[in-house]
Amino acid sequence: MTELELRDLRKTYRSRGRPPVTAVRGLDLTLGSGELLGLLGPSGCGKSTTLRMIAGLETVTDGDILVAGRSVTAIPAQARNIGVAFENYALYPPLTVAENLAFGLRARRGGDRGEVARKVADMAARVDLTPLLDAHPATLSSGQKQRVCLARALIREPDVLLLDEPLSHLDAAQRDTTRRELKRIQRDLGHTTILVTHDQEEALSLADRIAVMRDGVIQQLGTPYEIYDSP
Ligand code: ADP
Ligand code: ADP
Repeated sequence: MTELELRDLRKTYRSRGRPPVTAVRGLDLTLGSGELLGLLGPSGCGKSTTLRMIAGLETVTDGDILVAGRSVTAIPAQARNIGVAFENYALYPPLTVAENLAFGLRARRGGDRGEVARKVADMAARVDLTPLLDAHPATLSSGQKQRVCLARALIREPDVLLLDEPLSHLDAAQRDTTRRELKRIQRDLGHTTILVTHDQEEALSLADRIAVMRDGVIQQLGTPYEIYDSP
């Protein structure tokens, strides 16, 4: 049971010599266990900042983040067990695809080699990466890299999954299959998930609820039907 709760979450960026930028101004949100929330809104409204705070990649200015009822706000990113697939979240260039996938698992569990290999093979098959397991990231297309990032986020069986435009570099056919796979993974494994997307079809087909952000707050929250049918 992994609920995710954001309580009055706020972020103000301050850098010397520049006016402060308040990117998130009081976000309250509760995701039920296994719920997939689609997060939409114009560029600059605070979506990435919100995900980065939940992941622990950005400090929180004020408010609280709770996973399964416990505050993680003061816990370092590595200790949160939150899976992230972000646009510019780098793969390790010296490692092969298989090694990139295994990396997080080994670090976490001290590595039963057989089990790690099995999980890597399973996850690679799910997102169509089996032929690329020995390849290095530099030789992959952006769509292939994106699928490696997705697999790397999923393989750790995270409590919470954060996806920032996870299908943006895929062509139409790949987007279709990966979307279907995401849906199946979501149904099978039931991660509590936030998915940032600009793609209405993606949001409609995947999200249980949709939150529309604007200027650092949630402006609308409802089922896809409620959001897209409202005038
Ligand atoms: P979105 O993901 O919705 O495009 P972001 O969270 O990236 O929005 O950005 C929200 C606001 O915060 C924007 O005004 C952006 O310029 C600003 N911002 C984002 N990251 C930083 C940063 N590291 N330093 C200063 N301002 C930032
Ligand atoms: P997105 O909208 O997808 O979040 P951005 O172009 O807003 O992408 O941000 C890309 C990177 O630049 C992020 O790491 C963000 O923290 C940083 N960034 C965004 N806006 C600012 C800003 N005003 N000042 C400093 N860094 C920023």
